[in-house]
Amino acid sequence: MSRLFDVVVLGAGPAGAAAAMALAGKGFNTAVVSKGSATEGHGPSAALAGPVQGLSSRALVALTEAGLAPAARCASGPAARVVFWSGERSERGLEGLVEREVFDASLRSCLQGSSVSRVDAVARGITFAEELWQVETSEGPIQGRTVLDARGRHARRSDERGPLLVSWSLNLKSDECRTARTAVVALDDGWCWLAITPGGTLHAQFVTSARQQWSREQLARRIQDVAEKLPEAALPVDQLVARGSESACAAVARYSQPSRGPGHLRIGDAAVAMDPLSGNGIYEAVRSARVAAAAVNSYLQGLPWSVVARFVDGRSRELWRRCASKAAEFYRLQAGWSGSEFWTSTAAAYAVIRHEV
Ligand SMILES: Cc1cc2nc3c(=O)[nH]c(=O)nc-3n(C[C@H](O)[C@H](O)[C@H](O)COP(=O)(O)OP(=O)(O)OC[C@H]3O[C@@H](n4cnc5c(N)ncnc54)[C@H](O)[C@@H]3O)c2cc1C
Repeated sequence: MSRLFDVVVLGAGPAGAAAAMALAGKGFNTAVVSKGSATEGHGPSAALAGPVQGLSSRALVALTEAGLAPAARCASGPAARVVFWSGERSERGLEGLVEREVFDASLRSCLQGSSVSRVDAVARGITFAEELWQVETSEGPIQGRTVLDARGRHARRSDERGPLLVSWSLNLKSDECRTARTAVVALDDGWCWLAITPGGTLHAQFVTSARQQWSREQLARRIQDVAEKLPEAALPVDQLVARGSESACAAVARYSQPSRGPGHLRIGDAAVAMDPLSGNGIYEAVRSARVAAAAVNSYLQGLPWSVVARFVDGRSRELWRRCASKAAEFYRLQAGWSGSEFWTSTAAAYAVIRHEV
């Protein structure tokens, strides 16, 4: 027999965790289907480092307000940032740094300590019948009066947009404690973000066109180019290049229709995934969860779905246009300076798609 909830949330990243906390806090019987991660429970001592991400101060405030303060506390203190963009070197922006696997494990333990039911399973499919959403999971079916799809970039989507970009990463956990710092550098065929956490994790991320295949040697060369452009930052790239573990993920900006029907909403990256250059993904994910929680609350209190969907749809389009316009501007500025194919074609792609939604 499948279990019935007011709200079933798919995914326990920042969007899913924030939405579940908000709706459970309003008294709705809420479940989160979360597939966890291979390193859960190992925390910072896991031998292999995963990716590092940056959190702005407003992202930290948003997480805390969403009842996810322990996850916000995973962030380092403000990390100094050196930027090399449009041929100019500057120092701007301060962000906290999180090891993403530690941060995600903390989001899941926030749910553990709340009234949210955690279902450790993989969500496989969603169907709608007789006013209820049926979610097939690896641990059996569950039903919801409403479903929030917060599976991030893994969510099945109705449409895809955006220039085809890929992010290649090298990560290394060293025993040395260091001062937290980051560097952002524009190269001719992409851009690179380097982060060093106080715990000694080194992370380099090179975002470039997905049309080209890169060997590890070529990737290493790009990361060494960064260190050469910023010699004064004394970035410890040699260790990273020699011993870092390599991974890659899509960095394509994407827009999906926010709803599939009454009571169904996509939130966070499942709805609008932006270019990682914005550095705002986690903040926008938590913000979209807040909007969705208000929408689901109104629907479960009796407001017609057509009204709720129109409201969420408007917010979603507005967010997409804002993000795509910002990305177009970022890439256009650098294209004006570099003139290379990567920058001009990415800027042109964003300039077109911002008007398509
Ligand atoms: C290369 C790169 C770098 C980035 N750097 C930054 C940064 O520095 N700062 C920043 O703020 N943002 C950054 N972002 C964006 C940020 O990662 C996302 O915007 C944010 O994580 C979105 O949150 P979410 O909750 O929507 O999705 P996610 O964080 O992707 O969470 C989705 C959750 O759903 C789970 N899940 C997926 N499929 C299933 C399934 N079938 N069943 C059950 N669970 C499932 C996943 O395990 C995961 O826990 C970056 C993105 C990329 C691609």
